[in-house]
Amino acid sequence: MDFALSEEHQMVQRMVRDFAAREIAPNIKDHDRHQTFDRSILPRMAAQGLLGICLPVRYGGAGMDFISLGLACEELEYVDTAYRVILSVHVGLNGLTLLQWGTEEQKQRYLVPQSLGEKIATYGLTEPSAGSDAVGIQSTARREGDHWVLNGEKMWISLADVADNFLVFAWTDQEKKRARDHTGMSAFIIERSFPGVQTGTIHGKLGVRAGNTGWISMKDVPVPAENMLGREGEGFYIAMSALDNGRYTVAWGATGLIRACLDASVRYARERQAFGVEIGRHELVQQMIANMQLKYDTARLLCLRAGWLKNQGVRNTRETSLAKWHATVSSFECAADAVEVHGAYGYSDEYDVERFLRNSKGAVIYEGSREIQQLIQAQYALGYRKDRPLRCEMPAYDPVVWQQEA
Ligand SMILES: Cc1cc2nc3c(=O)[nH]c(=O)nc-3n(C[C@H](O)[C@H](O)[C@H](O)COP(=O)(O)OP(=O)(O)OC[C@H]3O[C@@H](n4cnc5c(N)ncnc54)[C@H](O)[C@@H]3O)c2cc1C
Repeated sequence: MDFALSEEHQMVQRMVRDFAAREIAPNIKDHDRHQTFDRSILPRMAAQGLLGICLPVRYGGAGMDFISLGLACEELEYVDTAYRVILSVHVGLNGLTLLQWGTEEQKQRYLVPQSLGEKIATYGLTEPSAGSDAVGIQSTARREGDHWVLNGEKMWISLADVADNFLVFAWTDQEKKRARDHTGMSAFIIERSFPGVQTGTIHGKLGVRAGNTGWISMKDVPVPAENMLGREGEGFYIAMSALDNGRYTVAWGATGLIRACLDASVRYARERQAFGVEIGRHELVQQMIANMQLKYDTARLLCLRAGWLKNQGVRNTRETSLAKWHATVSSFECAADAVEVHGAYGYSDEYDVERFLRNSKGAVIYEGSREIQQLIQAQYALGYRKDRPLRCEMPAYDPVVWQQEA
């Protein structure tokens, strides 16, 4: 057992830390205040190889492993959640899912330009009337000759108004839709340029205000048959396997947010005086800081375990869900405490901690809410839930294969 980060991991960590401090931190308060998504960040992230960080070189990626992906998420969310979300949807939910389930043709056509950052991608499962209950989605796809015709609405989709490519889910079997039999659902890759695709931005979010979140409307969208990802009826399995990677990035991001709360609180506690001493000398303030340290270390260890399993190519739904649950709930608790450590100043946007608090709540909800993660954990513990082999499993990380040129 080795808890040390490799040279390569430390290099990724330093690179993303410097990038976030240089390219994101100076303008983040402004973007958050005005709810503006800074599109210029995308080519700059692409130039660092971040938009294909853990994808094989032959598919346009940087050929790094899952721990590198996690470290990048931690460093991005240390500064702001919105920029980690880009990796979550573009790489975690979309790119890795194409790697796992896509045909060679789909990988060449979609994954390569996405990994290079020439195209931006996202994932649309949630709908206005169905989030946790994924089988409750209403979108449909009907076959017409050599293509499918998609209809439906997707809601709360990260990068909806920015992305070029969307991985969406719809019912291809209407009988099974009525029966809520998830084997009637399929996955499709659609492009913004397809007729009938419209998107918009949702304004007025509590947090992640520097990020883009929106809706996708699909009205009689013709989708070539070869744009079905996986086989007909595999959509639900694809959606859930994508969440194994998306949740992993969310969990790592939340550890970054916890560390940001800890660092900000330690800094402030050493500066601020009350009752003749710096507030860090008061034991109840120490208790809040000690809790942040505990939550950072436990969240990060759970993330490292999940990443190690991913690198081995071992199914990790249970471990990733646990990491996501613990890290996100902890990040919300730490952000709330960080605001308290800062007193009234923590309640204003003069300091970052109020933004951390607003940002942290979203991650408790998206990619499977706290309650959904609790159900998953209970079902595994009780033996009600067992992993079944998938037709396409994510392969183990092999540096030789991942770094092979096309
Ligand atoms: C900022 C942001 C970004 C997002 N990005 C994306 C994205 O890119 N792609 C995408 O597809 N979706 C995205 N989402 C949507 C997100 O995944 C959903 O909001 C989430 O799955 C919860 O669904 P819901 O909002 O419909 O809540 P509901 O499912 O309506 O849940 C409401 C409440 O009921 C609880 N609940 C529901 N079912 C149960 C149950 N069986 N047992 C106990 N409690 C239950 C939930 O935990 C929650 O507390 C995003 C959301 C946000 C806020």
